Amino acid sequence: MTSFPSPRCALVGAGPGDPELLTLKAVKAIASATVVLVDDLVNEQVLSHVSPTARIIHVGKRGGCSSTPQAFIHKLMIQAVKAGEQVVRLKGGDPFIFGRGGEEVEHLRAEGIEVDVVNGITSGLAGISSLGAPLTHRDHAHGVVFVTGHAKPGDSGTDWVQLATTAHQAKLTLVIYMGVSGLEHISSGLLQGLPAVTPVAIVQNASLPLQRQALTTLSQLVDTVRREQLQSPSIIVVGDVVQGALSWQMHAMEAKQRQA
Ligand code: SAH
Repeated sequence: MTSFPSPRCALVGAGPGDPELLTLKAVKAIASATVVLVDDLVNEQVLSHVSPTARIIHVGKRGGCSSTPQAFIHKLMIQAVKAGEQVVRLKGGDPFIFGRGGEEVEHLRAEGIEVDVVNGITSGLAGISSLGAPLTHRDHAHGVVFVTGHAKPGDSGTDWVQLATTAHQAKLTLVIYMGVSGLEHISSGLLQGLPAVTPVAIVQNASLPLQRQALTTLSQLVDTVRREQLQSPSIIVVGDVVQGALSWQMHAMEAKQRQA
């Protein structure tokens, strides 16, 4: 009996924005695709690796204002794979950090489709690195929590007071995705478990030429984000490691003054 290979699809991480942060494996997968389904946080420059004969389908949905329903994306992917296409599902950052990659894989597998996953650099890593600070540090942070500020509708969401208390006790850095729209609620919860002076970094459009950021403290977070008009997509990093970004900034300013 002849055995046919199972239909396959690849879930590929496009990284945080800078096209040079793509992995070689991502470039190869993108170049060999005949259909590419693209999220809206994927930088258009990444699409330069798509074959000129391939079809690009934009299926993005941005913080609440949905464009393509998730069920339709699943259907499109399944149909294309079953029609014999080489399908790449291109997602911002890493495909398995938020962005519903897990749900997509479940639907594809339920249809007997095998899924290859190509990791990407998640924006939670790129944001703080671009400010010269680490997420862990032997003296300041023993671990990291990646958490969403935007729960599924109907879900009660994160207990921010509990999370802050744990982060304080266990010396954990908090990396908050999709946190801008619910910032007041998040910061008032965090302030009940972490010191008001805890340093915070907000990085919008990390790794892109449009990147903007602010360094502040937990008690000043809401005011800072409003004043600086920081918006989605942003990463919020809470914890003593952010001190590293502050000292880096001071260092850069001093170097500039010496040159002047
Ligand atoms: N899978 C993605 C996350 C998808 S959820 C990843 O690994 O990065 C979408 C959220 O990611 C945004 O609301 C924002 O919080 C964050 N995000 C994505 N790209 C970003 C960027 N370039 N700069 C800052 N935040 C970003």
